[in-house]
Amino acid sequence: MLELAKEQIAMGQSATDKAEALRLMAARLVADGLVADGYLEGLQAREAQGSTFLGQGIAIPHGTPQTRDLVYATGVRLLQFPEGVDWGDGQIVYLAIGIAARSDEHLRLLQLLTRALGETDLAEALRRATSAEALLKLLQGAPQALALDAQLVGLNLPAEDFDELAWRGARLLQRAGCVDPGFAAVLQQAEPLPLGEGLWWLNSERQVRQPGLAFLTPQQPLRYRDQPLNGLFCLASLGAGHQALLERLCEVLIEGRGQMLYQATSSRAVLEVLGADAPSDWPSVRQVLANAHGLHARPAKVLAQLAKGFDGEIRVRLVDSGQPAVSVKSLSKLLGLGARRGQVLELVAEPSVAEQALPMLQAAIEQGLGEEVEPLPTAAEPEPEPSLPDADPVAPLPGSLIQAVGAAPGIACGPALVCVEKAIDYPLRGESPAQERLKLREALTAVHDELDALVQRSDKAIGEIFITHQEMLADPALADDAEQRLAQGESAAAAWMSVIEAAARQQEALHDALLAERAADLRDIGRRVLAQLCGVQDQAEPEQPYVLVMAEVGPSDVARLDPARVTGIVTAYGGATAHSAIVARALGIPAVVGAGPEILLLDSDTPLLLDGQRGQVQVAPSADVLERALAERELRERRLQAAWANRHEPAVTRDGHAVEVFANIGDSSIIDKVVEQGAEGIGLLRTELIFMAHSQAPDVATQEAEYRRVLDGLAGRPLVVRTLDVGGDKPLPYWPIAAEDNPFLGVRGVRLTLQRPQIMEDQLRALLRAADRRPLRIMFPMVGQVHEWRQARAMVERLRDEIPVADLQLGIMVEVPSAALLASQLAQEVDFFSIGTNDLTQYTLAIDRGHPSLSAQADGLHPAVLSLIDMTVRAAHAHGKWVGVCGELAADPQAVAVLLGLDVDELSVAAPSIAEVKALVRQADHQTARALAREALQQDSAAAVRALVERF
Ligand code: PEP
Ligand code: MG
Repeated sequence: MLELAKEQIAMGQSATDKAEALRLMAARLVADGLVADGYLEGLQAREAQGSTFLGQGIAIPHGTPQTRDLVYATGVRLLQFPEGVDWGDGQIVYLAIGIAARSDEHLRLLQLLTRALGETDLAEALRRATSAEALLKLLQGAPQALALDAQLVGLNLPAEDFDELAWRGARLLQRAGCVDPGFAAVLQQAEPLPLGEGLWWLNSERQVRQPGLAFLTPQQPLRYRDQPLNGLFCLASLGAGHQALLERLCEVLIEGRGQMLYQATSSRAVLEVLGADAPSDWPSVRQVLANAHGLHARPAKVLAQLAKGFDGEIRVRLVDSGQPAVSVKSLSKLLGLGARRGQVLELVAEPSVAEQALPMLQAAIEQGLGEEVEPLPTAAEPEPEPSLPDADPVAPLPGSLIQAVGAAPGIACGPALVCVEKAIDYPLRGESPAQERLKLREALTAVHDELDALVQRSDKAIGEIFITHQEMLADPALADDAEQRLAQGESAAAAWMSVIEAAARQQEALHDALLAERAADLRDIGRRVLAQLCGVQDQAEPEQPYVLVMAEVGPSDVARLDPARVTGIVTAYGGATAHSAIVARALGIPAVVGAGPEILLLDSDTPLLLDGQRGQVQVAPSADVLERALAERELRERRLQAAWANRHEPAVTRDGHAVEVFANIGDSSIIDKVVEQGAEGIGLLRTELIFMAHSQAPDVATQEAEYRRVLDGLAGRPLVVRTLDVGGDKPLPYWPIAAEDNPFLGVRGVRLTLQRPQIMEDQLRALLRAADRRPLRIMFPMVGQVHEWRQARAMVERLRDEIPVADLQLGIMVEVPSAALLASQLAQEVDFFSIGTNDLTQYTLAIDRGHPSLSAQADGLHPAVLSLIDMTVRAAHAHGKWVGVCGELAADPQAVAVLLGLDVDELSVAAPSIAEVKALVRQADHQTARALAREALQQDSAAAVRALVERF
């Protein structure tokens, strides 16, 4: 992702003309390792197609699609030219922002710049800036747009006096994320301003995060300072973002239309008067954007220019974005939309110009706004669910055996608890506001009690989730909003669900994973109350421990599981390497995934028997089958007990070949327990889990303490740490990452940390400081190219000069096929490889590891994956380097002998599997395992390899 930082800025440059400026820019991009040598031609070719001058003294030179392959890493570099450079047509550039990007990431940059582009005298300020910090402030510090939407309008609110109304205004602003909780107090100290017609104005700049305006009217007539109090505006002001709104409000008041505000019966009417929303009767058209790189500067310029040809107001918004419409005539606002190919634009125009303007602008967008466009694919008919059989699916019959995928070993049995959300119907209109109010109040109380019971029954961590739910339930803002709807005649259920849905969407719109989780919590309590209102019984949890059956279990569901009550998990979809399956394994709950949608049709309480090792589920097993399974479980438990007794012994095969057995962890606090479980070292410290456990990025000192704790606990055993591996299916709440069409093929792992070198540098610094004289191994995730490894290594080496460490090895995770295929080259430079079979399997077989119906086939024993492992081990050993396997395959009992036979040196597994894996190594014979591995490489499917292992 493109971000602006002061390290990217070179101040006080000079160039006699544009050609020289481009040469300087290209040289800078090459010197910083972002692009290869020929990129200058790309910059020149792009300018020849059309100037990249953006306005306000800024140009954004970038390459052409043909030179994208020359981009090593996405990034920007800024050159300030205080004397100006003529960019053609007399347009003078004081700041050139050179972009190295492989796709349309520069749209993000344009979005960042739009606030600055709105400033009238920016060019001069850019010219005069004397420091990189000042320049950055100019680019980022322009006014933020004012938040004003339906959530910020509260009509007919129960309020006793002015102060209560003001307090409610502050609450609305707080809920919209505009202000901190202290805003209500500072607003009470602000001096109210009468606007006339009983409208009042309150304003504060303190405790404001984002400018926003709330408008409220009281339910009953009120007076304040001997004047009527018909309505109150509460402004959270920050910069000049509210200027345009103030001007419109003045016009409304001068024209004597104030009553349209305080007599309004809907928030939409208020927004129309204030001009925040286009009036609902303005004509509109929709058009899909087909430009390959979205609405970037050139097409946006064309669109704004065309719109300026009409006298009336024309606005545009991105459908489904949740963002308000903006003026089509403003280039900066258009760029601020960040519209991408395939997204739908909605144009709205005032009636006097709509008839001419809308068809003309629509056609211009359709034709590409001056660019050649590839037509968009026509929407295909929705594919039928692939795994659903043609006939209506039926529940598996008693006695049937379902072969699925083993995700966490162990045998479990118990009654099923099938958790499938069914839609609940409810009436939209209520009997009377008073009755509906009573119903809602009773339902809220009942749900509060229900949650109380859950808190009592749960352990502390899980109980806290339900306590948070109780707090959400008691949020007065939710009650206020529901009350407004009840007063308009809605039923209790309809009012409640609309309020919950609006609040949840609002959280999601903030594009923050933590807040998105809060949205899930809101929907959770929403549904509980709805079920209560409609008399729908929640599924009663069986008294005895049960087998949980769900469509899919997300990581957050697993986090809420109570291992004391859930003996096993069966999912209809999903695969063994989805992160939720990994968590299940760490919790030690047997799990089978990918059992097919029919499993969801089982009645709760149906007895189930599952074998998490073989991946089998038996429905209502006969007494015989159950008895045999339980006998096997007992045998297995005895074997595990024996293994447990020898867990501290080394893992050496019968013919004397030793393999190290390490642990995978993501939490520093369990290190003592893990060593106690027999770990000879840590083979994978998933540092992103440590980052996720903090509500904001941990600083160097905090990280150092975490890493030190692990090294202390290891008491001289080696620690293999993986640098931060986020992106893909692992977002970090406080590190918003731009949405990508294919996140697994996007900015993930080392690609992301190389783009944010400060984060990586902090992490490496913390690691080196924590090491002292202990064995530290650092590896980088998702390396697919040699230059990524070299860039990452260079960073460590630079820091190592500053913080010497005695025993350090540097390596990479082999989880992208290209890394395995380049193993010979990489082995000359790395100290070790650690094979991440979860991702390696995903990328080799082109199966998303979390795909609902396909991931069951993503089996790491596939001969294609085994070949890549073989290739990696051979290359490493040829250069005297060691190889570990830290993916889930390392703990798969059927895979241990194969990996041993492929000459892997270390196996790193979830701690509960250590003793078992060591025992499996001890039972094996290395030479036999080698023969097995050679044969396995000749097979044509994972199933064939598994069958071979059973036979061997
Ligand atoms: C892997 O991909 O095999 C691996 C160990 O990393 P993760 O599962 O954390 O992506
Ligand atoms: Mg991985």
